[in-house]
Amino acid sequence: MKSPKLKSNCPNPTCSTPAQDAKSAVTKHSFLMTKSGQRRRYACASCGKTFAATTGTAYERMRKSKSDFDRATQMQSEGMTKAAIARVLRVSPSTITRWLAKAGDHAAEFHKKNARLPEAIEVQLDELSCKGTGEAKNAWAYSGVEVWSRFWATLKVGRRTLGNTYIFARQLRAVLIGESKDFLVTSDCFKYYEPVMRSVFGKTPLVYVQVKNHYYRKGIRKSEKTLVLGTPDRLEDAMARSEDSRKPNTAYIERLNLHKRMCCSMLRRRTPAPGRSCARFKEALDLVRVFYNFVTPHGSLKFGKVKRTPAMQAGIFDRPLTFREIFSWVPPAKPKWGAKSCGDNGIRILR
Ligand SMILES: [Zn+2]
Repeated sequence: MKSPKLKSNCPNPTCSTPAQDAKSAVTKHSFLMTKSGQRRRYACASCGKTFAATTGTAYERMRKSKSDFDRATQMQSEGMTKAAIARVLRVSPSTITRWLAKAGDHAAEFHKKNARLPEAIEVQLDELSCKGTGEAKNAWAYSGVEVWSRFWATLKVGRRTLGNTYIFARQLRAVLIGESKDFLVTSDCFKYYEPVMRSVFGKTPLVYVQVKNHYYRKGIRKSEKTLVLGTPDRLEDAMARSEDSRKPNTAYIERLNLHKRMCCSMLRRRTPAPGRSCARFKEALDLVRVFYNFVTPHGSLKFGKVKRTPAMQAGIFDRPLTFREIFSWVPPAKPKWGAKSCGDNGIRILR
């Protein structure tokens, strides 16, 4: 098991201290006098800048308490609507919207920096129809789950286009690091998966199988399997390594899709509050994903009295985290001036 310590960064965008040294570089500095008492300020020994305890975290510049923020995010991850959260916490719905957008972005950043699966065994991919309105009318949520650890590895929200399928596959490749043995990937027969998987995973040792289920009276009547990448012998080897599946299937990702529907009010069937933009869906699902991977112990990862989270099973942390720890983590600072972000691939273009 690896270190459970979260590695925060110096919040100064121009500081070059790497995350593993930031903890020793940041020291106590002075006090700031406020109406409610004194607040500690910190200084970075490397760049010399001073900052408050919440600078760079999700709690920066908040006027309500941290526990209200944590409760709002937890209520959203348990499937409550924004209006309901606003009524419970007695704050304005627009404040809740702003908090959840901030929390979703922070959660996405946290996941990007901490998610890694060095020893994947079986990965299942699927898309879930979001059924939004307006701009999000044709939005789908692509997801991938690593079955052995139940780790929700990738998420991409958008229309089902070739470009979005490429982005999704590249995100998956970034999480699966250092593969040496064949692992199994299964998905449905969506038309763009085959060319994208061939292009993105051409040199990676994997066996890719497409599964087509035929349903009859709410049950699977027949399941057709097509081997797309790899040979039958390699498929047999990959199946022998899998402890969860006896034959290629998409059952685990479909179970995760149900979890998403239960935990996100916008994804409920016949919801009174459908999502209106892809960004809102992404924020909500990023939050649900961090909650699922790092915070809540998984029902099927029970070992004696110990229940593990998917991140513990994957060897990323050795204990469940809390929302407070995740939102107090400082991500690497982004340049504030003279640079703009260019979408999902994270490449910034200097003007
Ligand atoms: Zn610094």
